Amino acid sequence: MAGHGRNISITPGRIKRFTFMREEKPLATWTGTDRLGDRVVPTLTVIIKTPGCSWRRCRMCSYSHEQHGRIEDAEALVRAQLAWVRREYAGRDFEFVKVFSSGSLFDPNEVPPAALDAIAETFRGKTLLAETRPEFVGRERVEEVCAILDDGTVDRPLYIAVGLETTNDRVRDKSIDKGFSYAVFLHAAREAHAAGAGVKAYLLHKPLFLTEAEALGDMQRSIADVAPHADLVSMNPCTVQRRTELERYWQRRAYRPPYLWSVVKILLEAEPHVTADPLGGGRHRGPHNCGECDHELVDAIRDYSLTADRSRLVEAFALPCDCKREWEFVLENERPYSMPLTR
Ligand SMILES: [Zn+2]
Repeated sequence: MAGHGRNISITPGRIKRFTFMREEKPLATWTGTDRLGDRVVPTLTVIIKTPGCSWRRCRMCSYSHEQHGRIEDAEALVRAQLAWVRREYAGRDFEFVKVFSSGSLFDPNEVPPAALDAIAETFRGKTLLAETRPEFVGRERVEEVCAILDDGTVDRPLYIAVGLETTNDRVRDKSIDKGFSYAVFLHAAREAHAAGAGVKAYLLHKPLFLTEAEALGDMQRSIADVAPHADLVSMNPCTVQRRTELERYWQRRAYRPPYLWSVVKILLEAEPHVTADPLGGGRHRGPHNCGECDHELVDAIRDYSLTADRSRLVEAFALPCDCKREWEFVLENERPYSMPLTR
């Protein structure tokens, strides 16, 4: 921590000027492995600071609180973080680099185009996964970023990752308040593919207001719908993040994260290989079962995501734990909240 980050903090908290800094540590970075096509590759993940998401309305999202500096300083801020990453990971070889902001890398009002170019220059020769809302994805811009990245080393220099969450517009609107339609995602996927990029869809398992059974059905339909349009599909079992609308419902016992049984069942029955990172798995705020069997299921989900070995899921799903009966009962008997039809 010490020694870098020359940013001058004028007041604690909100107003920061980044103009004069040379290095700035990103919000988070970590290394790992990811499944990319048929291979398991070494991965670097970088969460960068930006002025923040321009939408900031999603009911379950706490990343909307991440706002760093002003748009005028955003290019310098991104460049300073890239400098930190280059120094920190010098000499380490990653084939796949995933870059997230707490918003959209292709939003020019969050990440200036020159800053996105700098990200692409930094990771030239690698496969970059860049997350963005779909309304910012246009063929020409994706082509430009691909051209900067591509030095002939990898087949696919760029994946556009979109938090589609569900293919059901009503669920995305009412349960999430995401503010775009499936049609906008489909357009973005076509644009990205036409520009030579791949597409990754993130789906959210069990947003607000859905029963366990409704959430399971929504995810199964979403995977089937999106599979022809996305090269990679990942489902995120919902977790209760702090300072969110979802948290308030959860505190009043009006929300429960999905059962891990549901997660395993969905992955097991999904036709394409779908990955899942059960963040907070086994905890009250994350996808969980009874507390006894959680670890084994979380391990199986993680293994399957990496290896695509279905036998691992078959084994986990057959685990004899009493809470499986509870889950089956919930699937059958839980009823959706009812709103009055008239006043
Ligand atoms: Zn159990």
